[in-house]
Amino acid sequence: MIHDVLIVGGGIVGCAIAERLALGGLSVCLVERDCIGGGATAASMGHLVVLDDDPAELALSAWSCERWRILADALPAGADYRATGTLWVARDGEEMEEAERKQARLAGAGIASEMISAATLARLEPALAERLAGGLRVPSDAVVYPPVAAAWLARQAAAAGADILSGIAVRNLDPAGVVLADGREVRADKVIIANGCAAPELLPAVPIRKRKGHLLITTRGAPTVTHQLVELGYIKSAHSTEGDSVAFNLQPRPTGQWLLGSTRQFDDTTTGVTPRLVSGLIERGKAFVPALAAVSALRAWTGFRPTTPDHRPLIGAWPSRPGTWLACGHEGLGVTTALGTADLIAAQLLQTATPFDAEPFAPARFAAEYENAA
Ligand SMILES: Cc1cc2nc3c(=O)[nH]c(=O)nc-3n(C[C@H](O)[C@H](O)[C@H](O)COP(=O)(O)OP(=O)(O)OC[C@H]3O[C@@H](n4cnc5c(N)ncnc54)[C@H](O)[C@@H]3O)c2cc1C
Repeated sequence: MIHDVLIVGGGIVGCAIAERLALGGLSVCLVERDCIGGGATAASMGHLVVLDDDPAELALSAWSCERWRILADALPAGADYRATGTLWVARDGEEMEEAERKQARLAGAGIASEMISAATLARLEPALAERLAGGLRVPSDAVVYPPVAAAWLARQAAAAGADILSGIAVRNLDPAGVVLADGREVRADKVIIANGCAAPELLPAVPIRKRKGHLLITTRGAPTVTHQLVELGYIKSAHSTEGDSVAFNLQPRPTGQWLLGSTRQFDDTTTGVTPRLVSGLIERGKAFVPALAAVSALRAWTGFRPTTPDHRPLIGAWPSRPGTWLACGHEGLGVTTALGTADLIAAQLLQTATPFDAEPFAPARFAAEYENAA
């Protein structure tokens, strides 16, 4: 059999694409070397957030968050979709000015948000430290439990006729499709590389670099927090291009635990937890939520964000290899943007109108540069 499309990787991005294409009537095969919803997807925080520091990212994340809202009622309870909203927390007047600029950018994309005074902040989230300046509330953001959401998308794809193979790697690409680790060939007209940080293992010229992150979960009994809390300085940390950084990001879990993030590190490709960075995470967190001092950490873990040089994902045809498409490099926003990525790929493959401008995500922006360097 020759599939219309073979997808390499069963993280949230590969599963979302499989679902979208199988429901679109294509014959789909997805190959995952480990388990569905593992990889960065399992390590992630699952914050579904509209980010606005780049107009292309704003379009992709706004579209994707809307798609998650539409899907919410169909998701299984274990996917734990909750419309928490995001509370961007400002420490001083300068960050309040940034909150105002953020509000204007979000409004430009039709996303409602609300400037919050210091007094309202204290009322909304009493666990926050005193003397914070205020913030910006984005009520439409949400959270989801990514591995369960990915597995559900894969099941939807299978129900629509997709073949889902897990526990076997794609060893290499070949002109007719791919070769699996056991030597079997799977034939397909198009191959979509959706294997996150591992994309360069199959296509060495793809410019993806691993960016390590730590998260921590507390024991139960943490004081009540209702929003996903993020410091406004977070974007600065997300967009730094070297060194280590720590930014405050806290998600209340329905179990009464707090999920605390997050760190960013280039150039450490080991999976181990670094005690210095976990301490940094806790210290940063205590500055915003003092009650963290009285809550125990249960577990800390790491994961790798697949990062591109311009922090935008690679979505579309890879020009130097006909029939090969990329859907990778989603960095710290791939859970949010998986559904928009799937829509963009589907529109391009099915030759329908794209829901927003596909050009800023086209892998062609890097092809010449990297092929020449190779
Ligand atoms: C600490 C941390 C916190 C994060 N928090 C958030 C957040 O709050 N919100 C958000 O939107 N995003 C977040 N992210 C980012 C998000 O997790 C990623 O962008 C997203 O999971 C990428 O999904 P993916 O499917 O591309 O990659 P992955 O989830 O890594 O999936 C790729 C899959 O490909 C498989 N694979 C690799 N090579 C092969 C092969 N040769 N053959 C077959 N299969 C293969 C792997 O086993 C893996 O399962 C976070 C990331 C980290 C590390």
